[in-house]
Amino acid sequence: MGNGLRQIGYTTPMKFDLHCHTTASDGALEPRALLQLALERNISHIAITDHDTIAAYDQLEVPPGITVIPGVEFSSQWCRRGIHIVGLNFDPASAAIRQGVARHRKARRERAEKIASRLAKAGVPNPFEGAIAQAGGDHNLGRPHFARHMVACGFVGDESEAFKRYLGNGKVGDIRECWAGPEEVVAWIRAAGGTAVLAHPEKYQLTRTRLTALLTAFRQWGGEGLEVVSGRQLPRVTADLAHWCNRYELRASWGSDFHRPGQPWSDLGNYSTPPANLSTVWQGWFEGC
Ligand code: AMP
Ligand code: FE
Ligand code: FE
Ligand code: ZN
Repeated sequence: MGNGLRQIGYTTPMKFDLHCHTTASDGALEPRALLQLALERNISHIAITDHDTIAAYDQLEVPPGITVIPGVEFSSQWCRRGIHIVGLNFDPASAAIRQGVARHRKARRERAEKIASRLAKAGVPNPFEGAIAQAGGDHNLGRPHFARHMVACGFVGDESEAFKRYLGNGKVGDIRECWAGPEEVVAWIRAAGGTAVLAHPEKYQLTRTRLTALLTAFRQWGGEGLEVVSGRQLPRVTADLAHWCNRYELRASWGSDFHRPGQPWSDLGNYSTPPANLSTVWQGWFEGC
């Protein structure tokens, strides 16, 4: 079946989106609105994977017709590159996850202050206050909040320019030495009973040699999953990632990396067709699947 649909017992169609964001991090929709949209898109299983926070799950009312799987997207770094590790199906009450999230909340706050001071030196007016205004409060600030502020005050034409010139890889506002190392992040997820998934590997722009080194290390740390589809991607990328998944005996995960409506390359539920015949991260999570 196409586009993420799998059939169970020949009757129940299942559609998974295991990577998306809400206002708890840099997404535009409140958790409730996200679940409503997910229902409209016929998603049967969703994981909300906000950056370094599980706040979206606080008092979340789950409407009938959808299964919500605990999720988070932890920031980390490996060989001086920012990488993202998605945690899925963990116990949100576990001390390991709570401590990990708390540690990264503090790291994010300190990082935001550094980013703000560097952007101020580059001439951006009131970057800290501006980012807080964009985030709707002083919580979980990320580079997109700075980018939105820079657009709002006319410092750059759009968010993509903000990343290209100030916030992207190697630019003044790219600070990534603050996160826990990937081995530790994987350990938090596992200690909470969850599955660690390497998110969107194609985004790290690694050479083949470095990608294989990362996958080897990821397995050694206890990582079990690989995101083989992240939003809309070229069939060639999907085929490559399916190959790595098999080669490193990782389980496949997929999702849209949805942040907000109007971005067709990361639209909730509308991701490229995942490869067939891969074992998936959710095998063994539920009865009968
Ligand atoms: P942070 O969590 O502060 O490291 O910011 C990472 C987030 O920034 C990603 O999850 C994306 O939402 C966003 N992002 C990264 N690169 C770009 C880009 N080139 N243009 C727009 N948004 C980006
Ligand atoms: Fe994001
Ligand atoms: Fe990510
Ligand atoms: Zn994401």
